[in-house]
This record gives sequence, C-alpha cells and structure tokens, in this order.
Amino acid sequence: MNKPGQHFLLSSHAKTLSLAAVFRMTDDQAEDAFRKVRWSETNGAPVCPACGCLDAYDCRRPTGAPRWECRGCKKQFSITSGTLFASHKLPLRSYLAAIAIFCNEVKGKSMLAMSRDLGLSYKAAFVLCHKMREAMAAEMKGRTLGGEGVEASVDGAYFGGYVKPANLKENRVDRRRAENRTGKRRVVVIIREHGGASLPAVFKTEAAATGFIRAHLKPGTVVNADEANSWDGLHARFEMKRINHSEAYSLDGACTNWAEEYFSRLRRGEMGHHHHISGPYLLRYAQEAAWREDSRRVANGEQVTRVAGLAMAHKPSVDFSGYWQRHKA
Ligand SMILES: [Zn+2]
Repeated sequence: MNKPGQHFLLSSHAKTLSLAAVFRMTDDQAEDAFRKVRWSETNGAPVCPACGCLDAYDCRRPTGAPRWECRGCKKQFSITSGTLFASHKLPLRSYLAAIAIFCNEVKGKSMLAMSRDLGLSYKAAFVLCHKMREAMAAEMKGRTLGGEGVEASVDGAYFGGYVKPANLKENRVDRRRAENRTGKRRVVVIIREHGGASLPAVFKTEAAATGFIRAHLKPGTVVNADEANSWDGLHARFEMKRINHSEAYSLDGACTNWAEEYFSRLRRGEMGHHHHISGPYLLRYAQEAAWREDSRRVANGEQVTRVAGLAMAHKPSVDFSGYWQRHKA
C-alpha cells in the first residue's frame, strides 16, 4: 500500500497536530491540514478518487463543507471520499480532534470524552474509534519480523468477556468454564521483536498459531517462549529459548518481558473501557495495543498525523461498511 501521509510526516507541520493544536485550529486551518494529509503528493490540491484526475472545480457546499467536481469523470467528491472516513458527515476539525483524542488517551474514558467533546453519540464515537483501529492495523499488513540473530518473543493470552477486576480471583474458575461453554474465548498471540515491531493475531488455541509464526518470523530469529507445549512445533524452524513462567519471566538469558508488556497494555485496555473485547473486535483491539506499544516513544502530534495519514490512505471500512447509515442517531 502506498502511504500518502509519509511526505507530510516529514514536514515540520506534522508536529503541530497535537490535541491542543487541533482544538485551537480554525475551520480553514483544519481543512488545510486535512488536505495535506489526504493529498500529500500535490501539497493538498484535490485528486479525484474515482479517476485520479487533477482537474477539479470547487463546488463547496453552502455550509462551507469543501467539495469538488472532477472535470474528467464529472463525479463529485469530498476530502474523505474513498477513505476510511467516507460516509461520515462530520466537520473536518472533528475528525482531527477524534484522532487526537484517540491517540492522546491511552485507556479509560476516551470514547465518552470523545462523544462529549465532539457532540457525537456514543455509538458514533464507537464506530470512529474502530475505524482508527482499522487504520492502525493497515500498518501491520504483511509485516514480517526478526531475521538472522534477532531476538523475538512469542506468547499467548486468553481473552473473552469482560472480567471485573475485583472479582477476578474468585470468579476465575467458573468464568473460564462458562466462557469455554460459549466457545467465545480466544487466544491473542503476539510476535514481538526485542526493541522492534510487533504483530498480533487471534486463534482458538496457541498451538494453532504455529503456521502464522512461521510465516511472519524470518529464519534465523532467536525465539523466546514459555514452556507451554504449544510452542514445541517452532523448534524445527527456529533457535528457541524457553522459560518457565511459574518461576520467572526472564531467566538464563531467556526473556518474554516484551510479550508481557504487550499483554499488560491489552489487559489495561480491557479493564478500562473495552467492555466487549471478545468476539469479532478482539483482533482490532490486539492490533491497537500493538500499534500503541510500538509507537510509545513517538510524540503525540506525530502519532495523530500518522493515524490521519493511514485513515486517508485506507479504503472505506471493511468492518463498518454501512454501519454508520444504519445506526445513525
Ligand atoms: Zn474523476
């Protein structure tokens, strides 16, 4: 996939898209920033999403919402046409603010804050957040990790249903049995390069992840994993370092701390506000946590620009096609 946001990322303008900066923007400034993210190759000049034509005339709406008509194919388009945010009818500043809030608030009340600050329904904020997760996930498509002598960790953790933190201990056995009955429990498996990038995926069991790991980890990688039988199938392909989790997470040079940090982030998200982290959304939450973990040292303003660029480079949502229209409040 091409990344129209990249050129923009390199400019000093990119650093200004922090939450505070977005809220200070005028509508014109927001439009300018948005056009430069969407059409970075032309420095913000509109490009028809249908035919690629550069010749379009301004047919701005009476409300001031920017809109163009292509002289080539006669189709009309907006800044968000053909992107992940297609079919939303929000002011441009609201998208930028939504992205800024999403990047800024690592956990907790982000969706409530977003619906309040932007005057959206909770459902609308929910859909927007999921589209941003979809954008983050686009960055991981086809990713391969590791390589000769590179250390990576592989680990799995089970998710399914909302677990009340206070009741976690006494409910553990019963809850797990119930979840097993519904068949909704899934294991998130993470591959994480030490000091590098991550790649999560969702399976029914850890052992089912062997093919995925072999496909996405380059030969020569030194793989750290716990002693669960699930990972035994990896020995034929990789040099392995195994560690017993009941004793430690880092022992005799074997270390799965990288995976542990990832899962603690995902668990915090689960406790905070993802009441339904199971089911079809689990992969998106797992990808969001991986993106945040990998980007944890990237300045907030840069994160906002990156997510905006990814969303603008992304075709309309596969997860939520038509959802917005059907559920419009
Ligand atoms: Zn056209």
